[in-house]
Amino acid sequence: SGTLFVVATPIGNLADLTHRAVTVLRDCDWVACEDTRHSQRVFQEYGIQARTIALHQHNEHQESARLIGFLQSGQHVALVSDAGTPLISDPGFTLLQLAHEAGITVSPIPGPSALTAFLSVVALNTQPFTFHGFIPAKSAQRQKFYESLKPLTATHVFYESSHRVLNSVTQIVTVFGADAVVGMGRELTKKFEHIFRGTAGQLLDLMNSDSNQLKGEFVLAIQAEKPLVTAQLDEQIQSLAVALTPHL
Ligand code: SAM
Repeated sequence: SGTLFVVATPIGNLADLTHRAVTVLRDCDWVACEDTRHSQRVFQEYGIQARTIALHQHNEHQESARLIGFLQSGQHVALVSDAGTPLISDPGFTLLQLAHEAGITVSPIPGPSALTAFLSVVALNTQPFTFHGFIPAKSAQRQKFYESLKPLTATHVFYESSHRVLNSVTQIVTVFGADAVVGMGRELTKKFEHIFRGTAGQLLDLMNSDSNQLKGEFVLAIQAEKPLVTAQLDEQIQSLAVALTPHL
């Protein structure tokens, strides 16, 4: 049977398509796209003439089954999403699940993701980190969600929309305090890229003072005061110290 390639595409800057991605997209028989018109912009940039199929949440079951048929007949299929890495808060789960069940070879063509691009520059503790993708859109549910993360034992990373980001950061200040260490990545790889690392209070001030800071695409993160591993290590050191004390 054919191979299902899962191909990462740019998160803003069209130059961020890997050499391998170009080759695979050119050579495969079908490209399953979240939005075919959106992906055409990337394909045009690289002169890729792809035979595309739209695969999104409304037709995922039907089209995934059809794509599995193509793969079983020996054709190669690439999966792309509108931006970044498929299945990272993007469609494709059903197709991948069916491919695994059918014993089809799957292969990643790695590249950009807003998640890893952000963590690579923001200098927040990533051991461990928890990625939530999109968090609840309704304000009351989001507040509850933030409260459920307390006490923070890992750095928590989210995708947030520009419509809600101010409210979201306000809630972070309320729940975790103005001194909580947070990060924000806005418009990564694009013209108005902005990376923020500081306290939640400072981020809120920045957003309130400059409405341009509320435009575009966002990744947010809150850092654990004491990550779980450090907390556990501290505990172990303390009990070791207690055990040794009588002998000193
Ligand atoms: N699969 C994508 C990835 O690997 O990053 C994520 C897709 S998700 C539908 C889109 C969300 O990712 C946006 O709402 C935003 O929160 C985040 N995002 C995507 N591109 C971004 C960028 N250039 N800068 C900051 N955040 C971005």
